[in-house]
Amino acid sequence: MSAQQPYSFFHSVERSFDKAAKFTKWDLGILEQIKACNSVYQMRFPVKRDDGSIEVIEAYRVQHSQHKTPCKGGIRFSDEVNQDEVMALASLMTYKCAIVNVPFGGGKGGIKINPRKYSEYELEKITRRYTSELVKKNFIGPGIDVPAPDYGTGEREMSWIVDTYGSLKPGEIDSAGCVTGKPITQGGVRGRKEATGLGVFFGIREVCNMEDVMKKLGLGIGVEGKTVVVQGLGNVGYHSAKFFREGGAKVIALAEYEGAIMNPAGLNEEEVFQHRKKTGSILNFPGATNLAKNTDALELECDILIPAALENVINGDNAPRVKAKIIGEAANGPCTPEADEIFTQKGILCVPDMYLNAGGVTVSYFEWLKNLSHVRYGRMEKRFNENMNMQIISQMETLTGKKVSEAGKKSIVHGADEQELVHSGLEETMISATREIMDLWKSNPDIPDMRTAAYVSAINKVATSYAELGIFP
Ligand code: GLU
Repeated sequence: MSAQQPYSFFHSVERSFDKAAKFTKWDLGILEQIKACNSVYQMRFPVKRDDGSIEVIEAYRVQHSQHKTPCKGGIRFSDEVNQDEVMALASLMTYKCAIVNVPFGGGKGGIKINPRKYSEYELEKITRRYTSELVKKNFIGPGIDVPAPDYGTGEREMSWIVDTYGSLKPGEIDSAGCVTGKPITQGGVRGRKEATGLGVFFGIREVCNMEDVMKKLGLGIGVEGKTVVVQGLGNVGYHSAKFFREGGAKVIALAEYEGAIMNPAGLNEEEVFQHRKKTGSILNFPGATNLAKNTDALELECDILIPAALENVINGDNAPRVKAKIIGEAANGPCTPEADEIFTQKGILCVPDMYLNAGGVTVSYFEWLKNLSHVRYGRMEKRFNENMNMQIISQMETLTGKKVSEAGKKSIVHGADEQELVHSGLEETMISATREIMDLWKSNPDIPDMRTAAYVSAINKVATSYAELGIFP
């Protein structure tokens, strides 16, 4: 791509796809079908602002693939939203779901607004209108296309969506499954909010536990003691920072759009979050040094860099100055293909978005299953398991003549609740995906980087299910 051409995120995804397709055995036609975005819905609708003026809102929903249904992917609110971006993000969702064996096709939505510039009432009207536009065109539903939170949206927006959908589809018994990332009271699942950040942590922890990989990077094994820089203190960045800190790593810098702060002794994300809430800025946090530009944080000396905000933040221009040994892509598309080439030359390991941030959609899958089954996880077996464990302990005590301590008893007897089951399902998913991609990479040393290995895995899975469906007439 020449310097004059504007950056195309979708083109970046296509380039990474093509780079990986060479390592697969699939027909060109199948590869073209996998790459293409099946449906692109661009809409415009009016909203009356609080001051009485009318504004025309531009919004999108893209369904990249229906090789598995429903389509799945978040909805973002950002004034950077455009068709190219939503298409790229929808494609990434297809590959992401395939890698972690979540049986969905990829989708994504976007509304071109800066949510900070709208009142809560205006945002509610926009979200509800967007949902009814999707209903009108059959672009939403538990078996069709299931949105979720993304950049600029959260539980609040999801509850407006589920409520609007439910009121337009009275009697649809599975209507709660039309969107995920809902509050618990509206059919959400415990553990969804922190899911992406926790998944990022599980994925990177698994990489850090691989002796050969760490040796190559000149790092010791494990997350403990490693220095981490996180860009973005939204839901994903906040929780990534939290789990790294709790896992024994040191979060030495945090960045937000107004700037970045650094403290080699370590930062506590909750304290920084509260400081930002109080003062309106991440800057001037007690004990930390301000960095002039938020992008300066990306160039700090550290073991692990976590870009957790938007796409295209590490590119051909700044990648040569990146000093991290591992990059964990918590955001979607933070590093461009040019950056990938530079990382390969510099020996930096970039752990790719399309599986590393799959924790969100994985737990969305658990939420959707909960909605379809109409029962909370753990409800059927929690008490049964506790009774069974209690019996095992008393048998043990009778046979040995010794008593198990009260604390020991409590932890052994305990039956898993919803959040524990969700976290454990997520941990299993992220560990298996990490190993699968690493094994695939090792089995073919010509594959240049982990992103390409992840794409190869995704392409193989999507192509196999197309082949199984036999849908090519
Ligand atoms: N927006 C998140 C992502 O990009 C979550 C999508 C979902 O849960 O469907 O993966």
